[in-house]
Parts: sequence; structure tokens; C-alpha cells
Amino acid sequence: MIASLYVHVPFCLKKCDYCDFFSVTTKETDQFPVYLEALKAEIQDKKTRLRISRWGTVYVGGGTPSLLQPAHLDYLGKILPKTEENTIEANPEDITAEWLHACTANGFNRISIGIQTLDDTSLSQIGRRGSKLRTLKSLELLQQYWNGRISVDLMTGLPGQTVQRLSHDIDVLVKQGISHFSVYSLTVEEGTPLARTIHTGKINLPDENTADSLWISARDQLIASGFCQYEVSNFALPGFESVHNLNYWESGNWIGAGPAASGTLRRGAEAVRETNTQDIQLWLEKPGQAHETEEITGIQHIQEYIMMGMRLLRGISIPAFSERFSSEIMDLIPRTIATWRAKGYLVHSEDRLFLTSDGILYLNRFLSDVIAELSDDEPGS
Ligand code: SF4
Repeated sequence: MIASLYVHVPFCLKKCDYCDFFSVTTKETDQFPVYLEALKAEIQDKKTRLRISRWGTVYVGGGTPSLLQPAHLDYLGKILPKTEENTIEANPEDITAEWLHACTANGFNRISIGIQTLDDTSLSQIGRRGSKLRTLKSLELLQQYWNGRISVDLMTGLPGQTVQRLSHDIDVLVKQGISHFSVYSLTVEEGTPLARTIHTGKINLPDENTADSLWISARDQLIASGFCQYEVSNFALPGFESVHNLNYWESGNWIGAGPAASGTLRRGAEAVRETNTQDIQLWLEKPGQAHETEEITGIQHIQEYIMMGMRLLRGISIPAFSERFSSEIMDLIPRTIATWRAKGYLVHSEDRLFLTSDGILYLNRFLSDVIAELSDDEPGS
């Protein structure tokens, strides 16, 4: 079986105020060797137990993988397979010439940088370390010492953000030769420090319409700069799409390694998901063993497949869907397809089903209709 590999590095120097991803704060790098040894054991165990014959892509995410020092990257390089796309996430303030050399020497050929914004006030209001100056310095280092691909994460809907400032950020980054952008709207998760600060009224976020306009302005500027929106939040120059993430959206196979990491393997209409414990101590004691297993079958699998595939601007392959589920998508969600086609937001060709570039703005509403119809309720649009 061919599968991609996701490695979770669950450490951050400081928790960003908006973040609800699983990570623990640490100022010590002493525990990294122990973490890496456990990671090696987990990858070896899963490769054998799950009969992985070849790795498709590798993605090291977090947390903050750029906290790993060059010596840790040398160890990581020995335990990770080399594939056509080995990505590592980085925070701009951690990037140094030595770190970039170590990434290259250890098989990484793509860096995904969490820049979010070049506006220092917005950055500090969402409680994220770093600064515009340090990010620009990192971009300079990348120009000098990095030959691989570069992806950047940006956020819209930040406190104080304007279309002009956002446009300036994109302009600067496009001129730096960035080949891939992920643009996300800030979502305020209950229970995070940001949610509490907003409740106290100390920070005001743009209202919903302004937040939508900010995201749309970013989309339009990227498209005007030659980027193709290939997924609801992702834009790439031709040929620079994320192969690893395409595998998620196309419901391929992947293994997760590291605390809280999850992986899914599929055989036809059946899928099995393993999700590792978030308890780092337990994970260190039994790497790859302490996990929950979930069987994904029937309507649940079909639902997941459509939810992931319809995020892509090219949508779902109708023949691939029929082959996997031995049923026609048109027979499963005829009302939703008819309604959304009538609105002009959905195209149902002979071989693909996809939302138009206007339709993808209503992806969540479309998916609610899909879920309702699959559950045999009336679609609510
Ligand atoms: S660096 Fe990333 S994972 Fe860590 S707290 Fe910030 S957003 Fe969350």
C-alpha cells in the first residue's frame, strides 16, 4: 500500500492566543531526542504493521517543527523517507541559514511558513510571536540559502486589518517568489485566550462582511498575480500545488506519527482511522500503540469523501467515486445537485462534479445540503 506520512511535532515556544491545535509549550530542547527516538519506533512499527510498501509524500507539521535544531533535523533526516515532496512547517522567526542548510541536507524540498500577517499590531493582538522585520529577514535568508518550494500561510479578518494592508503583504510576498499561499479567515475558537479578550471588548475583529471582503480581496489579488485557486483556501502557481494536501482532499491513504496525529487507510468503500493519544508521556512510552481506531464505512465514508473532494476547485471525479463506492453520486444526492446547478454554483459534467469559483464561497452551505440529503432529510438551502 502507498501512503503519505504526517509527522506531528507537538511543541511550541509560546501558545498563540487563537490556537486550539494540539501542542504544548516548551523552552527546553532536551526532550527532543527522546521524542525523535519514539517517532522512529512509531514510523517503523506502522510501516510494518500497516504494510506500507512506499511513501507518497512527507509533511512535518505542528506545533512548531522549526524549533528542531540542525542536529535534530539530522536525526529526522535518517528516519524519514525521501519522497517527491518532503515539507516542513516553520515559523519565520526561527529560520536561520544553518536551519535551512540542515533542512536541505535532510531531504526537505518544501517549506511552509506561518507568516499570517506582516502587520506587527495585528500579530501582537492575536498573541503570535515574530515581527515584520524578522519575517523579511527570513525571506532574505530563503532567497540566499533555499532552493526548494515555499508556501506561506496568511490570515484574513485580523483585528485592524484593511484591504490595503493585506494587499501590501501579498505584494511583498509575491515579489519574494512565493509559489504557494494558504489564506485562512481567522476563526475564534471558544476557550482560547483570543475569545476571552474579544469578550472583554479589548480587541475588535472586523464584522462578517468586512472579513469576507478581506478574504475575497486576497483571493482576487492572488489570481491577478498568476496564482490558481485549486482548493477553497489554497492558491498555487501552476505546478506548485501541495501534493501532500491533495492526497487528503482526494481521500488517499496517510499515516500519522507523533502525539495526537491521525492517519486513515482505505480499501475501497471501507476506511480505518487511527488517532494517537494526546498524552505525550503515554505516547513516548508506547509510540504508535496508544491510539484509538475508528472504522469509517457506508454513508459516513461517502460524506467524508464528498466533504474533502468538494474543497477542490476541480471537485470530485465521478468515475473514481463510482468505482470506490459502487454507486453513482447523482443517485445519492440528486436534490442537492439539481438545486446547486440551478443556482449556477455547481457543474456536473460527464466526469467531474465541482463548485464554480463563486459557488466555492458557499462550500459550507453546499456541504450541509449534502449531509442532510445523505441522511435523507430535506436540504435546507
Ligand atoms: S505556533 Fe502554530 S501550533 Fe503553535 S500555538 Fe501558534 S498557531 Fe498553534
